[in-house]
Amino acid sequence: MQTPPSAGWSGARRLLRRLRDLMAAGTTAEERLNQTVRLIASDMVAEVCSVYVMRAGEVLELFATEGLNPEAVHNTRMRVGEGLIGDIAAHARAIAASDAWAHPNFSYRPETGEDLFRSLMGVPIMRGGRVAGVLAVQNKAQRLYTDEELETLETVAMVLAELIASGDLINPSEPILADATAIVPRRLDGLRLNAGLAIGTALLHAPRVTIRQMVAENPAEELERLKTAVAAMHSQLDTLMTTTDISGELQDVMESYRMFAQDRGWLARIREAINSGLTAEAAVQKVQNDMRARMREVTDPYLRERLLDLEDLTARLLTHLSGAVFDSSEMPADAIVFARAMGPAELLDYDRTKLKGLVLEEGSATSHVAIVARALDIPVLGRVTEVLDRVETGDQVVVDGDNGQVFLRPGQDVLDAVRHSMQVKADLRQRYAAIRHMPSMTHDGQQVSLLLNAGLLIDLQHLDETGADGIGLYRTEIPFMVRSSYPDVATQTELYKKILDAADGRPVTFRTLDIGGDKTLPYFDAGEDENPAMGWRAIRIGLDRPLMLRQQLRAMILAAAGRELRVMFPMIATIAEFRAARALLDQELTRAEDRGEPLPDRVKVGAMLEVPSLMWQMPQLLARVDFLSVGSNDMMQFLFAWDRGSPRLSDRYDTLAPGALAFFDDLVRKARSASVPLTLCGEMAGRPLEAMALIGLGFRALSMSAGSIGPVKMMTRSLDVRQFRPLLDQTMHRPVETLRTVLRSYARDRGVAL
Ligand code: PEP
Ligand code: MG
Repeated sequence: MQTPPSAGWSGARRLLRRLRDLMAAGTTAEERLNQTVRLIASDMVAEVCSVYVMRAGEVLELFATEGLNPEAVHNTRMRVGEGLIGDIAAHARAIAASDAWAHPNFSYRPETGEDLFRSLMGVPIMRGGRVAGVLAVQNKAQRLYTDEELETLETVAMVLAELIASGDLINPSEPILADATAIVPRRLDGLRLNAGLAIGTALLHAPRVTIRQMVAENPAEELERLKTAVAAMHSQLDTLMTTTDISGELQDVMESYRMFAQDRGWLARIREAINSGLTAEAAVQKVQNDMRARMREVTDPYLRERLLDLEDLTARLLTHLSGAVFDSSEMPADAIVFARAMGPAELLDYDRTKLKGLVLEEGSATSHVAIVARALDIPVLGRVTEVLDRVETGDQVVVDGDNGQVFLRPGQDVLDAVRHSMQVKADLRQRYAAIRHMPSMTHDGQQVSLLLNAGLLIDLQHLDETGADGIGLYRTEIPFMVRSSYPDVATQTELYKKILDAADGRPVTFRTLDIGGDKTLPYFDAGEDENPAMGWRAIRIGLDRPLMLRQQLRAMILAAAGRELRVMFPMIATIAEFRAARALLDQELTRAEDRGEPLPDRVKVGAMLEVPSLMWQMPQLLARVDFLSVGSNDMMQFLFAWDRGSPRLSDRYDTLAPGALAFFDDLVRKARSASVPLTLCGEMAGRPLEAMALIGLGFRALSMSAGSIGPVKMMTRSLDVRQFRPLLDQTMHRPVETLRTVLRSYARDRGVAL
């Protein structure tokens, strides 16, 4: 096997300089491309160098080659995913194969004559986060390509990306026009990250800076420019943090974001790219391209979010390098911002009074930008695939956060319907506000406590807004998830105190950490389970890592000094687990007492009912708990063997199935006979029809997200339980899939407000 002469940085720099001269020559784009492949082949001692360009319909077309059959140019076309070249494009990832024939994806095109060549190294040509083509070299002998050569090829690919983007080779919008989407109205689906409806004008977030010069004259000068820009970026971030009104988790989010800005590895990689001959801007962009390629491989949600923060920093750094400062006064007054991904600081750059919605191609509910957007109370959609290819700045758009849809250039019919819904919502909001201080009591006088599900400090403002009776479920893992390191006892105490203060005497039920499964903490490795929902999560982790749980309980005890402390443990499956968890709490109470610390006034301890096995241990459980709370999201998934996250099963079973209702009926009777208070805090509690069924079955406390309190209260006040209950008794055991229709008809006939 051969090893080539090492090119090194100076080699890369020399090549880049020659490329720059070549690009500056006044020849046609095609000719420049031909010269480029010749230059690379000779410089990298490769027998073949070829460029494939992405054409409409996801087809890679051979545009230039040195070494392959010239007749194949513009004739050889392959699909993304086909062969090694297609594989590079499909995964946006480089391949360096000393024996390409042995590669599982190898396939060759006889017309090119490439069967002679044994080794191949190829890199994607990336443009704006998308693959615009592939650049590859090939050798006859089995050859090992070095990392430096790969780096060089990647750098050359950036220069080619500019050439492709120039529009001289192909019309740059060709891949978009292929499905003729640019001007027609269009609806795209996404993931709801924050509810709400907005009509506005599209504002594309991404390209603030166009990089004009890729190759640097003087690396030392570029390093200096980078240093100045980094310093300016840090000082701008400091100002943003001190002048913006942020608190609670937003503060944490921004702190961990700022830590990234000081990430040495990131800056070191940029410096390295400058040393290889790029301008500071091109180096920042190159490191970002590498990151994006890596991001496709990353499945860990936390890591993905942090990589998105780095995208934000890249854009920020580029702004500082180019001196192009973002001016929010140029925003339209009803801006809906579209971005591939965004960091939290970038969102805060926009004028909040003009920002009406946010649409992302990436993003998840726990992404930092989603948390910030929720605090700003604007509708947000994530995972809207390829929306940036289809929308232009200035387009009229509608974001429907409630249904997870965005309408681009909507027709009059859609606009009319949306305006109507906005009006209806505004009217309803007024009606909910009007009953905010009225008791949540059924028409026939049954008191039903409506509580709030919360997880962030910013959720607490909803307590007063909605008139909720307290917090029925505080998901403590959420503040843990937005941090970059484990919060110590003092930090946790502070947080729990703030929550209790905000509740101002209303009950707050803290659920201990429910991590594991898809809720990962960056600083805690829960390993991987085949079936995470049933894996090492929640109380299972708490009991196996008692120090973590004890610290949390210690903080809760300290925070609740002189007040009531309500704690519940998630995913309890056996009495022994509950006893063990409770013993840890007792230990902590004793510890606090021994140390003379002020204790909570009262301590109430409960279990979440999420695992069906508890139903057959009720007498023992009821004798030991102060309250029970049904986590119906998990309970339904385990009762029906129904993965709550599977989109393919989302409509398969119904929470209003006879089996589910009979289960709840049984549970209510058992809890009542032992006089143990029972709550339900899963998503179904917040849906008026489901809530009607639950109240009919005997639930007198329901905990839900803030937006549901108004609708559920309105329903409750219009329901006559005594009249309704017999219907449940008659229908609960019917051999049907669901009682939804029966219940809906009842509500309609009896004027129950749904
Ligand atoms: C539930 O399972 O219903 C619940 C409230 O807990 P989570 O949704 O956080 O799992
Ligand atoms: Mg649960």
